[in-house]
Amino acid sequence: MRTARVGLRVTPAQRRRCFGLLLANGDVWACVLDMNRWRRQRGLHGITNFQQLCRELHKAGPAAFGELNSSCAEGVLRHYSDAWFAAAKRRKSGDATARFPRRKRRLVPVRFRYRHFAFDGQRLRLATARGCPPLWVRLDRPVPYPVEQVRSVTLLNEDRRLFIEVSAEVPVATYAPGCEPDPGRVAGVDPGVIHPFAVAGPDGEGLIVSGRAIRAETHLHLKDTKRRRRAVAKRAPKPGQAGSRRWRKHRARQRKLEARHKRRVKQAQHEAAKTVVGWAVQRRVGTLVVGDPRGVLDLKAGRRHNQRVRAWRIGYLLRCLKDKAEQAGIRVVLVDERGTSSTCPSCDQRVPKPRGRVFTCMHCGFNGHRDLVGGANIARRNPSGTITTNSKNPFPVVITHRRAGRHLPGTAPARRDPRRRPHHGTANGSHGRPRPAPPPWGVARPPGEDQPTMVKHGQRMLMRH
Ligand SMILES: [Zn+2]
Repeated sequence: MRTARVGLRVTPAQRRRCFGLLLANGDVWACVLDMNRWRRQRGLHGITNFQQLCRELHKAGPAAFGELNSSCAEGVLRHYSDAWFAAAKRRKSGDATARFPRRKRRLVPVRFRYRHFAFDGQRLRLATARGCPPLWVRLDRPVPYPVEQVRSVTLLNEDRRLFIEVSAEVPVATYAPGCEPDPGRVAGVDPGVIHPFAVAGPDGEGLIVSGRAIRAETHLHLKDTKRRRRAVAKRAPKPGQAGSRRWRKHRARQRKLEARHKRRVKQAQHEAAKTVVGWAVQRRVGTLVVGDPRGVLDLKAGRRHNQRVRAWRIGYLLRCLKDKAEQAGIRVVLVDERGTSSTCPSCDQRVPKPRGRVFTCMHCGFNGHRDLVGGANIARRNPSGTITTNSKNPFPVVITHRRAGRHLPGTAPARRDPRRRPHHGTANGSHGRPRPAPPPWGVARPPGEDQPTMVKHGQRMLMRH
């Protein structure tokens, strides 16, 4: 099952109807919570069984929830019931942190099951309540799956933008004979912050996917958020005080930027995972052994490192890789990565963790890229954490370098990215005095005119054209 998100192009009227559906779904959710609270206050059992909840819903009669189709409302009840029983099960097994659903949400995503939606090119018809005209919306790109494979469509909003999530059952890729992935060909994958994936494959081949663009985007976003927060800190409402219109605008803007940042990082992570899977398919790698660092991430490591780890979104990164690999017919094995980046792949002795990107062994003189060392050690691991001795992969010599997130504004100095502060000039947010574009390379400048001169600027010497 794979899911893709597609944006919507809607008229104001369609937009109102879409939000009406989301609101109605939120009302169903709130109704269930309220009903059960009411019952418990009177010493009755809450209704948690899906069939019983449906019966209660149908007692409310048709059109109790605006234009919402009853099948969609039942989807919310199913969600509530599943969440309740999951929490009850965890509680029973002694987990006191498990919580029953209790938080109301104003807008709840609406899931349209099979037969309650239909595609017509880039248009989509969504079922509404009986007696209401169906809701037609336009998509901003074609659905990336064949229409007959689509199983459900979910309408949702993210910071006032409308999307649909299309879930489709995509069959595992098939290959020509002799080209299919061979489970005996193993590659070790070391996930990291600077390099989302470093892969040590068979035949002395390696792949390094650089994620510096993701990190730059994260840094810029963090810096920008801090700056905004500092600017409005004085206007922040006190607890119990209603926010001003200006404050609400600031909050809306912040949410919008947060959502954009998240979308950008996710896109780059998908690109990174896609690169790895494409590389593995080309080399007929049938097993990806992936180091899972999540065992050591819960340790407190100071606020800076905690922030770095949180921005990494490792769970999402690994899910992307697993999803894409399985669709390509590649097996993914998660192993504990403890110690893999500080063990020499040549002589198996422990070496202090290198500070830079180059790993050097003081026992045997081995030299190599630090992340590939991790990958090579991971390739030799079993899920139980033991090291297998029958490793056939030599250390990578042929290394492919790829980048993830080339579209991100952090990769190159983007003049138009307002988050980048100007290097020159003092005006806040200004890129300085507008200057003509420099002449193309190889064009000689006329002597005496427009020659670069050194100008004293504060403490630094700057080249001024
Ligand atoms: Zn060594």
